[in-house]
Amino acid sequence: MSSDHTPAASYVVIDVEATCDDGGGVPRHEMEIIEIGAVLVAAGTLQPVDEFQSFIRPVRHARLTPFCTRLTSITQDDVDAASGFVQVFDRLCQWIATHPAPHVFCSWGDYDQNQFRQDCGFHGVPYALPHRHLNLKRAFSQQLGISKKLGMSGALAHVGLPLAGTHHRGIDDARNIARLLPFALGRGEGERVKG
Ligand code: AMP
Ligand code: MG
Repeated sequence: MSSDHTPAASYVVIDVEATCDDGGGVPRHEMEIIEIGAVLVAAGTLQPVDEFQSFIRPVRHARLTPFCTRLTSITQDDVDAASGFVQVFDRLCQWIATHPAPHVFCSWGDYDQNQFRQDCGFHGVPYALPHRHLNLKRAFSQQLGISKKLGMSGALAHVGLPLAGTHHRGIDDARNIARLLPFALGRGEGERVKG
């Protein structure tokens, strides 16, 4: 058991993709996670040490919209071949537990955490992610003294890092967000010098 004052041992950077539509076909409260991407960052070094990636088969809107596939590059075949939320969520939680605690769940904004809570509620399983959550979008702006909240790509550009991989793919977004973590924690200069 750790209090919120115990220093983190592991930062768990998570980015999820979800069912969506540009024409109102998938209301916000019916969106479901279709990909979890996660990068485990050791708190001492701020280096990534492990990754978790899985697609998830949605049930409420089982057919991905063309908009969703265009946005995320995730295909119907990807999600059809995947397990359901409950199974993948359990695997994610078990994977986190293999790394040193205390864990801090990090994401770019509050969306990912809210989407997990929604999916857990829909499937009737406990929300078993780390109790501590760090909104890196807010922390980044505070550390760098910028008044507006930047999107992930804007934040990368702000610190001179290229966007690696495919934007709006959970695992690639998580990798990019993990590279922003040192800046959000005020430990970014060392990273920049190391290249
Ligand atoms: P992101 O992490 O930015 O890739 O976004 C996570 C999820 O939010 C996506 O998988 C979509 O479900 C939704 N989303 C992101 N951008 C948009 C957009 N422009 N229009 C509709 N939904 C979006
Ligand atoms: Mg994403």
